[in-house]
Amino acid sequence: MATVDVTVRGAGIFGLSVAWACVQRGARVQVIDPGGVGAGASGGIVGALAPHTPERWNEKKAFQFDSLMMAQGFWDSVAAASGMSSGYGRTGRIQPVMDARGLELARARGDEAARLWQGRATWEVVQNVGDWAPVSPTGYWIRDTLSARVHPRQGCLALAAALTGQGCAIRREGIDQGAVVWATGVAGLRDLGAGAGNGVKGQAALLSFDARTAPQLFADTVHIVPHSDGTVAIGSTSEREFEDGQATDGLLEGVLERAIAACPVLRGAPVVQRWAGVRPRSRSRAPVLGAWPGRAGHFVANGGFKIGFGMAPKVAQVMADLVLDGRDAIPDPFRVAVNLV
Ligand SMILES: Cc1cc2nc3c(=O)[nH]c(=O)nc-3n(C[C@H](O)[C@H](O)[C@H](O)COP(=O)(O)OP(=O)(O)OC[C@H]3O[C@@H](n4cnc5c(N)ncnc54)[C@H](O)[C@@H]3O)c2cc1C
Repeated sequence: MATVDVTVRGAGIFGLSVAWACVQRGARVQVIDPGGVGAGASGGIVGALAPHTPERWNEKKAFQFDSLMMAQGFWDSVAAASGMSSGYGRTGRIQPVMDARGLELARARGDEAARLWQGRATWEVVQNVGDWAPVSPTGYWIRDTLSARVHPRQGCLALAAALTGQGCAIRREGIDQGAVVWATGVAGLRDLGAGAGNGVKGQAALLSFDARTAPQLFADTVHIVPHSDGTVAIGSTSEREFEDGQATDGLLEGVLERAIAACPVLRGAPVVQRWAGVRPRSRSRAPVLGAWPGRAGHFVANGGFKIGFGMAPKVAQVMADLVLDGRDAIPDPFRVAVNLV
């Protein structure tokens, strides 16, 4: 008789989160990953949980909004079970307004946010943000209170500790038992078949600079994310072509220069880590969730791309609904078949 209800393949943020949702509902779960916890894209350092712009609402934006609203409870449950911090904090975000057109757009988005975010978070144009802010040529900034941050690697380690504390084995190898959830990142997209998606490399750096309660900044396409441990993450490159997905190079120096130009207070802060990983990008750029067509009892949770940490709590919920209860609440654009050619 099987001693496990669900086998999760992949100990990245998607696999660990799905495992956690299943364990919390009383399922017996094992996680198998030959690389160990956080061996893929999830073992990184950036962790911006930043919303899509509040306009042209669609299922992906609504799903992400729900997930961001679930994040506090999700990470609290992990901290309570593990005794470890994920570094989660809903510290908000500040972005500069670059020109008159941007100001008009930012104000319109503020109006949309009031409606779409249901009063649970704000998006406002402000003129006073204090010293911790990116350079703004207009003297205006956008401040939102929906954005949060988590430390990706610490979050994965906390999730792993929460899981093992509840009797879930995390192994480097093992035999599939029960339902099998494939949360295997870029390798999993390849396994789904040609055209399902590809890897997009990203490089990021960690500075020693203590701004732990300050909001994250987004300027000149760079994320500047203060973590709770007195570091600030800077990211990221976005590379479709690369030879070594784990190597850092001069492209990262370019990102660092843009970060310092946008936020001169960071100049001189020591770089304590450089890191690179490969994001799983599906054909549709959206998550790929659901039953694996033609493979009974097998499921897929993939396609986190650039917002996998932001999407994880809701991905975990809908996957646990499907795998354990047969309840299918997956948005149509996320279905596996949509990403198969
Ligand atoms: C530089 C960079 C910055 C990023 N910044 C952010 C950010 O600010 N905010 C955000 O939300 N997201 C961010 N992301 C994206 C995020 O990291 C990814 O979306 C997320 O990590 C994907 O998680 P995953 O679990 O699907 O895949 P992965 O973390 O890649 O995990 C897949 C796992 O599957 C394992 N595996 C492979 N094959 C098998 C097999 N056959 N059996 C078992 N296990 C297997 C691998 O070893 C790996 O551990 C960033 C990514 C990068 C690279």
